[in-house]
Amino acid sequence: MKSIRDINVSNKRVLVRVDFNVTLDKQGNIVDDFRIKAILPTIEYLIENHAKVILMSHLGKPDGQVVEGLRLDPVREKLAQYLNLPIIKTQDCIGEAIVEQVLKLLPGEVLLLENLRFHKEEEANDNKFAGELARLGEVYVNDAFAVSHRKHASVVAIVKHLPAYAGLISEKEIRILSEVLEDPPRPLAVIIGGAKISTKIKLIKRFLGFADNILLGGALANTVLRAQGMAIGKSLIEEEMVGEVKSLRLTDTKLHIPVDTVVSADKTGKGKMGVAPVGKIGGDELILDIGPETEKLFGEVIKSAKTVIWNGPMGLFEVEQFEHGTDAVARAIISCSCRSVVGGGETTAFLAKHGWVDKFFHVSTGGGAMLEFLAGEKLPGIEALK
Ligand code: ADP
Ligand code: MG
Repeated sequence: MKSIRDINVSNKRVLVRVDFNVTLDKQGNIVDDFRIKAILPTIEYLIENHAKVILMSHLGKPDGQVVEGLRLDPVREKLAQYLNLPIIKTQDCIGEAIVEQVLKLLPGEVLLLENLRFHKEEEANDNKFAGELARLGEVYVNDAFAVSHRKHASVVAIVKHLPAYAGLISEKEIRILSEVLEDPPRPLAVIIGGAKISTKIKLIKRFLGFADNILLGGALANTVLRAQGMAIGKSLIEEEMVGEVKSLRLTDTKLHIPVDTVVSADKTGKGKMGVAPVGKIGGDELILDIGPETEKLFGEVIKSAKTVIWNGPMGLFEVEQFEHGTDAVARAIISCSCRSVVGGGETTAFLAKHGWVDKFFHVSTGGGAMLEFLAGEKLPGIEALK
């Protein structure tokens, strides 16, 4: 894989696929700018090396049409603030008018193209669309690791049209994630939480054979509890996954699942709540977090680990009453002397909210991409760079 650092970018139009898929609130303000901050070193590198920088990204799911609320203007504004530079923003991402704008760029200037997914050809990995994008640059850089598990035009088809290189983020993600997969300092503890076990079962299977300990929390642990025949009340569960989960080695001593839980009949956090040991969960109750005994157990395992991989919250952390377990796991990892690798959209949003992103060895920009990479799948966007 060739790196952006291996070439002379001076005076060249460098077309960079980035991931500016930020969360917006109802007023269109950016809720969490972790992804924008993460890309700044790449842009700064290109500016310092006198490149003409052209950024392209998707935002949300406009499904191939122009959706006013999904224009990249709020991103432009944030970027201009952080870089302390004017950023040019176009009204589309392809076409003659855009080509003209791009040809006027001077070295060190930065231009942001409009949302790629306003064109349905992007997600269809359309070759002609990729060719149109490629007209804008002389060199292509993929620095959108988080999108590299998608076979989309700006990630895959485009490499047929331009010399392609990995950006600084992509490079770093691949290096660090490969290291923890190949020869991690041991013991290796893997903590998996979040909503759906179906999205993470491949990862669980892989690490059951490779990690020294696997800790499961969040709603996905409910499905495991159910597979073990435990009552889980009205908790969130993926019924259709129970069969497959039963086929895992659930009695493996490496596998740790919650021994107690925080329950309530009301997930708004306003109703009565309490701690229930697993096995004593009422029919009307919902499991909304891991309990204090589980926090202690998980904390011990984390403390003794030399490498920790964490993906997925331990409970319904968006409600303050149910964020304690996620908070405890985060703190345990922060205070252990281990190499910590963390990822997941909600997990990183939680860390960003607390200002803890810098306290981890590596916070991945990839949610789904990180999961697939760690599960041993090949990412089309990364393969395309080889
Ligand atoms: P990530 O994006 O970090 O990989 P997921 O997308 O898998 O995480 O899951 C995150 C969601 O899981 C959060 O919105 C959280 O509220 C939810 N969740 C976790 N545990 C529970 C639970 N016990 N009950 C309901 N929702 C839960
Ligand atoms: Mg998520």
